[in-house]
Amino acid sequence: MRILVVEDERKIAEAINKGLQAEGYQVTTAPSGEEGYFCLTTGEYDLMLLDLMLPGRDGIEILRTIRSKGITTPILLLTGRDTVEDRVLGLDSGADDYLVKPFAFPELLARIRLLLRRGHIEPQHLLKLDDLEVNLLSHRATRADKVLDLSAKEFELLAYLLRHRGHIVSREMLAQDVWQIRERSTPLDNVIDVSIARLRRKMDGPFEKKLIRTMRGVGFYLGESFHD
Ligand code: CA
Repeated sequence: MRILVVEDERKIAEAINKGLQAEGYQVTTAPSGEEGYFCLTTGEYDLMLLDLMLPGRDGIEILRTIRSKGITTPILLLTGRDTVEDRVLGLDSGADDYLVKPFAFPELLARIRLLLRRGHIEPQHLLKLDDLEVNLLSHRATRADKVLDLSAKEFELLAYLLRHRGHIVSREMLAQDVWQIRERSTPLDNVIDVSIARLRRKMDGPFEKKLIRTMRGVGFYLGESFHD
């Protein structure tokens, strides 16, 4: 099990590092949020311990960035203050759990074990279907290793369809979740249809296997490849 520890106070970082290694964990430490983010996005970790108060971008900002990229690595937030606001902010920003400093080491271990047991098996930033691959970190989509030239919206749409692969996605869902608009309208439906058509042309057009299907009157379906 690999744990990334993001903590700027060297003494605390060293103590955590030592304690976790003694328990058999592989530990990497990063002294700033930026470095922590870099490690997380370039390596593979089962869990991240993230200090809230960091120089530069603080823990909350880093946390939000991580979650906005679709990375779901469990994150345990270490906070120096115990206020309800901090805890709520931390959990709302995507932390799985938090621990107030100073903490007892056995409690840290217990929380780590709990988070690791919940388990996250899939590589978090890679979405795959057949020969289609979407990397949420690099914002790159490929089919058969060829890069698809997608607009930001088309990329977002594709990522959404991939997260719901094997299920029908309605226009309501797309309006709300991708366009962030609650009210259904014909113009919006048209925008959605045009975006789907563009995405389909780029993603399925040049390839023999088609992945996007329109389910008449219901919505769209991204699933196992089929032939026209
Ligand atoms: Ca700190």
